[in-house]
Amino acid sequence: MKTGASEISLLGISFEKYLTHAQISEAVKQVAVKINTDYAGREVKFVSVLNGAFMFTSDLLKHITVACTVTFIRAKSYHGMESQGSVSLVTDLSENLKGKEVIILEDIVDTGLTMQKLFERIEKDEPASLKICTLLLKPDTYKGDRNIDYTALSIPNDFIVGYGLDYNELGRNLPDIYKVKP
Ligand code: 5GP
Repeated sequence: MKTGASEISLLGISFEKYLTHAQISEAVKQVAVKINTDYAGREVKFVSVLNGAFMFTSDLLKHITVACTVTFIRAKSYHGMESQGSVSLVTDLSENLKGKEVIILEDIVDTGLTMQKLFERIEKDEPASLKICTLLLKPDTYKGDRNIDYTALSIPNDFIVGYGLDYNELGRNLPDIYKVKP
């Protein structure tokens, strides 16, 4: 697999380039600007959802200018290209979020099931506020009734890989985002 290529193959499945690293970086920067404005003078606790959000988290935080800390949680719902329909928290939070101004950092909101599960878990800690920031949103498949507070990019309902997102754990290292070829 060659990073930067216009087409790639992972486990025999072909993917074509969909979003360049430059497009992603610009969208990530814009979302950081909004957060900096909304949270001026406050301290943010980011909860990054592993594994998919590691690259997004790293790049977003470089543009955050308000006081912030980051912690991690690990969720799993997909196997291959299919959602398993249930979400498990593989690794729970390592600290209590009571009284914190929390923003969840997700790689992608698809049906919204993972986000729902994360909200239920974090609300138990009684944070002062709780919002979600996602790199990608698939509006056509989103079934939740919660408002998505911050979205960097909205995309159609295609399976994508790269920039932290995987196909059977492969492709997370790609700087660009690819979609499966029809
Ligand atoms: P949801 O629970 O909203 O249906 O799905 C959220 C999770 O499913 C994401 O955190 C991500 O792990 C996975 N997911 C959803 N759509 C895609 C996709 O197009 N590509 C990849 N690689 N993962 C996806």
